[in-house]
Amino acid sequence: MERSYLLDAFDSGWISSRGEYIGHSEKILASVAGTPYAAVCSNGTTALHLALLAIGIAPGDEVIIPSLTYIATLNALYYVGATPIIVDVLDDTWCIDPTAVESVITARTKAIIAVDLYGQPADYTALAQVAKQHGLRLIADAAESIAGSLHGVPTGALADVSVFSFFGNKVITSGEGGAVTTASPDIDRLVRQLRNQGNHPTQRYVHDMIGYNYRMTNLSAAILTAQLERIDGLVSERRRVVDTYTSLIGGSNAFRLQEVSPGAVPTPWMISVRITGLDSARRDEVIQRLGEVGIESRPVFPLIQTMPFVPKEHRRSTPVAELISQEGISLPTFPQLSDDTIQMIVDALHRTLAQI
Ligand SMILES: *Cc1c(COP(=O)(O)O)cnc(C)c1O
Repeated sequence: MERSYLLDAFDSGWISSRGEYIGHSEKILASVAGTPYAAVCSNGTTALHLALLAIGIAPGDEVIIPSLTYIATLNALYYVGATPIIVDVLDDTWCIDPTAVESVITARTKAIIAVDLYGQPADYTALAQVAKQHGLRLIADAAESIAGSLHGVPTGALADVSVFSFFGNKVITSGEGGAVTTASPDIDRLVRQLRNQGNHPTQRYVHDMIGYNYRMTNLSAAILTAQLERIDGLVSERRRVVDTYTSLIGGSNAFRLQEVSPGAVPTPWMISVRITGLDSARRDEVIQRLGEVGIESRPVFPLIQTMPFVPKEHRRSTPVAELISQEGISLPTFPQLSDDTIQMIVDALHRTLAQI
């Protein structure tokens, strides 16, 4: 289906950012996310940037984010000149700790970004309460959690504004791509205007704000439409993969999986495990040895505040995230993995651990 939609878009001549697949994909995405509005854009990072701009985050505003996330979450904050306030994560779900969030709120705090790490929904119930109490905006970086939910509410509808990524390694892909979902018509209108050079909605060549070219092409949207149309199958295949891993390593003392909080349905994006007692040097050795037998694994994300460009005053100590990051590896998670291959990977992991 991806191929035929893509060729259809190509043959239609609408290969740039106008064309019918843009609207098709947005319509399906809104129904997947459970929001009245969904706007697609060029990637997940630009989606984060648009979301921050649309809720009015400005230079000097403080925004609270977890230390354990992909670097794009932090980069988007620097794009708008905000000050990141980096806090720790929870030991069980690996997502932002709502108590830690509450402890760093100041008069300059404007928003919280929750990240659904490796597909695990953050604790939006607690976060929404903190946000409401202190008059803050809640943003969801749901780049990794499409089709996940919390207490029956899909990720995409759990915050004031949510962001998805459709990069090639995500559950749903358009090559490169992203989206912003929201229940607010004002946020949606601003996102649409900002992604399209700040174009006035009706008057041509009138731009009433500094805008960006963050549009998605109709070619990407054609692929995205096909992917979204078969999202249930794509997700259930991955869920089988994650369930097989979980049943093979879940009972072992050597490993700790990310825990699923009550009421949460995580997205089976990338199975990630902590190897109890590992340090990062031995973790890297495990990854290397698995690589030698043809198994590609990855370290869990390093803490964002350890990147060299992060100013000293933004670096905070986040001991829980540090331990997860040093003990954690992500294992191959793609829909085509057979149960036998997963068994083989887990056997190789056990053998490697016995060797180091
Ligand atoms: C993938 C990802 C992004 C960025 O998405 P791109 O489409 O690669 O720009 C942002 N945040 C998280 C948590 C991600 O995993």
